[in-house]
Amino acid sequence: MQDLRQLSIAEARAALGARQASAAEIAAAYYAAIESYDPAIHAYLSLSRERALRQAERLDRMAAAGEPLPPLAGAALGIKDVIAVKGERATCASRILENYIAPYDATVIARLEAAGALFLGKLNCDEFAMGSSNENSAYGPVRNPHDRERVPGGSSGGSAAAVAARTALATLGSDTGGSIRQPASFCGVVGLMPTYGRVSRYGLTAFGSSLDRIGPLARSVTDAAAILQVMAGADARDATSSKRPVPDYTGELAAARRQAGSRPLAGVRMGIVRESWREGLDREVEAAVKQALARFESLGCQTVEVSLPRLDAAIAIYYIIATAEASSNLARYDGVRYGYREPHAATLGEMYRRTRSGGFGPEVKRRILLGTYVLSAGYYDAYYRKAQQARTLLAQDFAAALAECDVLALPTSPTPAFRLGEKTGDPLAMYLADIYTVPASLAGLPGISLPCGKAQGLPVGLQLVGRHFEESLLLRLGQAFEQAGAAE
Ligand code: GLN
Repeated sequence: MQDLRQLSIAEARAALGARQASAAEIAAAYYAAIESYDPAIHAYLSLSRERALRQAERLDRMAAAGEPLPPLAGAALGIKDVIAVKGERATCASRILENYIAPYDATVIARLEAAGALFLGKLNCDEFAMGSSNENSAYGPVRNPHDRERVPGGSSGGSAAAVAARTALATLGSDTGGSIRQPASFCGVVGLMPTYGRVSRYGLTAFGSSLDRIGPLARSVTDAAAILQVMAGADARDATSSKRPVPDYTGELAAARRQAGSRPLAGVRMGIVRESWREGLDREVEAAVKQALARFESLGCQTVEVSLPRLDAAIAIYYIIATAEASSNLARYDGVRYGYREPHAATLGEMYRRTRSGGFGPEVKRRILLGTYVLSAGYYDAYYRKAQQARTLLAQDFAAALAECDVLALPTSPTPAFRLGEKTGDPLAMYLADIYTVPASLAGLPGISLPCGKAQGLPVGLQLVGRHFEESLLLRLGQAFEQAGAAE
């Protein structure tokens, strides 16, 4: 039998159906890989063997009985530790939740398990998903499988690294300002951020509630689509989840594969954002992105130049709104309701203070302070309200650009993966590197990062941003791009 870790989601299901492999064997292959490779990468924070094996047994019984298998049967997934899996730890890579056990399943977890997925364990990330390098984890950084001296990106660093190291078939991450797309680009995998509201946030630990999304990281666009297919759709437990019907993403991709001629993307207008060729963009990243655009043209896309005139303001807008929302969301970690409590405190006030000062890491504290400041009485109008207004203008810029084209293309990150420690002393430099990902987050639009070559020997990502709820087009473009790349 071939290495079971080579199988795609569809292949894993087919192998189970044909009794060429069992789900228990697939799980065992991944756990063996985690044992061999994860100590050097540190993508996993905890393993959920018991639950994975229970699910594997269920699937193997179904296969033995000749029952039809659900769409994700045998898909061995890793889950970012900000998503609740009942009975498992959910630390959010923070000390303050070190011993916190999730009392329920996130909606995405319940749906994926019902669809046949099995959960290998919980993945490392930046504390409360705040960061771009995974160096803000209270449990130590994740290393990039392409170069262990480099960061995997963040905040879903463990989610990207596990896919790249093949210690999971695919993973779930969360994206507030780039945390799926940027680590996907640093680790050379596919990362999809769905439209805001497309996937339920119930069971996702809140960071910036108006920005947070759950999405898949995977080896291929087809695998990412299969996961989105199961997760997407209305949820009575998340009032911001959309009631729009969910398209048949996987069916559409299969149809596109069958029809593919030499110019499968004819008729698609791809907008190239003029302002993305800016200072700070690495020359080799720029070259890789331009080569990717040429491939899209050869597949039939018509490229048009468009403008996002306020791109430069996106970082400032994002770091006001995201920190404001974070300061409010993180007020609940007070030593009373969840997780860690400082035991030696004489008064209630002292208990709060010492719990939070010992429980949170420096970046989380920085954001609570910043967010509290921009929301405070004297500064609300100057910062928070202004940021909200600017957010609306940025969203309008996107709407205007997406009226001239069907999809936007831009780099995912200005540089490839940087070295561990390179930016930790300079938070502002770390924030500035989010320039290409935060705009689509603020506008609520879907985005995907596709591996598109190398810079300094390291993976580079091309980002596509679509109109609201047009994930189908992103996936179709991604699949065609991938197939053309494989044929080259
Ligand atoms: N790097 C951004 C931040 O630090 C995005 C994080 C995210 O998307 N969760 O806020």
